Amino acid sequence: MLVFVLNKTGNPLMPASPAKARHLLENGQAVVVRRTPFTIQLLYGSSGYKQDITLGVDAGYATVGYSAVTDGRELIAGEVNLRNNIKRLLEKRKAYRRTRRSRKWYRKPRFDNRGRRDGWLAPSIQHKLDSHIKLIEKLKSILPITQTIVEVASFDTQKMQNPEISGVEYQQGELQGYEVREYLLEKWGRKCAYCGKKDVPLEIEHIVPRSRGGSDRVSNLTIACHECNQTKGNQTAEEFGHPQIQAKAEKSLKATAFMNIVRSKMVDLLNCDQTYGYITKHDRIELGMPKSHANDAFVIAGGNGQEHAVHLHIGKQVRRQNRSLFKANFLKGGKLKRNTVKEVKGFRRFDKVKYDDKECFIHGLRSSGYFDLRTITGDRIGASVNSKKLTLLERAKGTIQEVCVIPPRPCGRGLLAR
Ligand SMILES: [Zn+2]
Repeated sequence: MLVFVLNKTGNPLMPASPAKARHLLENGQAVVVRRTPFTIQLLYGSSGYKQDITLGVDAGYATVGYSAVTDGRELIAGEVNLRNNIKRLLEKRKAYRRTRRSRKWYRKPRFDNRGRRDGWLAPSIQHKLDSHIKLIEKLKSILPITQTIVEVASFDTQKMQNPEISGVEYQQGELQGYEVREYLLEKWGRKCAYCGKKDVPLEIEHIVPRSRGGSDRVSNLTIACHECNQTKGNQTAEEFGHPQIQAKAEKSLKATAFMNIVRSKMVDLLNCDQTYGYITKHDRIELGMPKSHANDAFVIAGGNGQEHAVHLHIGKQVRRQNRSLFKANFLKGGKLKRNTVKEVKGFRRFDKVKYDDKECFIHGLRSSGYFDLRTITGDRIGASVNSKKLTLLERAKGTIQEVCVIPPRPCGRGLLAR
């Protein structure tokens, strides 16, 4: 695993090998500034040669993949799981406020703070946008990245704005074909339009068969499982007993709200290049790589035959604290619930600790000093472990992080011209 290096003034240099880093640390020429990902800072000046580094980001609603590559190798690969509970928590807060307001009915309203400024985004969406930007900035702070490419959507909605009318045609095996396929999968909810079966190989299906004059236009295409496709044979959808399918096929798809909102903002704010999912998917399959967010990011960054990173950095966003408002309900006996315990015996929630030679996180912090320890994936290490047996490795931040070894990924056979 490479060690990330900052120069004397804190700007990123090319990463170093662990042996080089150990040498620098042992000679007192560098200090450790971060544990995950392992980063050191030089104490003396260094000119520092730099190579071009491209960062690929697979933007997503729940998981973001990233990969930074040079001509020769992949420097870092990773995935971050974003928080998905923001909407629910805000609704909960709203309900608490509403009940309190109705109890305090005699109080006059004091503030007029109900306006929405320009460019307002729903909090959950704003959070996802911020998280993408924060992640990219963090990576830029440990690597001298020269170019950033973000996959903003699975297909180019601008180009495909009205495919049913403008008539994008489907051709097997073409890159255009990939885009149409992605579009259809999205539109028909990734399930067979006839029987609703999911998680089976889906085929592109002509609503009016080609043999009966049906076109290759998107408005005549749907997605079906092999069985339905075979059974339907030479019938139209209507004859097959699904008259509503024709009407649905003629309507165009509203692109997934999240990416549509976020994409232009992100590209503006980061001043980066963009690409589309159908291109990534096509290239990834060409390279023979299995689907994962990190692999997608590798392809987005323009990776082809490079040496892959051996380790995968996984991150998960966590809440730092509860808010007292969420504890608004009284306990039996009229006592108000305490808010989250902030620190016990020097430990906080989601601190990374060492227990029994294993690295894990404090999942349940209890004032008794006996904690629930879990790994980043939620596997329990200990249900009630005495804090005296723990060593603090890393203080909790908004994102908890772990590094794991990834199985070697199949290597490239050369990429299509982009
Ligand atoms: Zn079917």
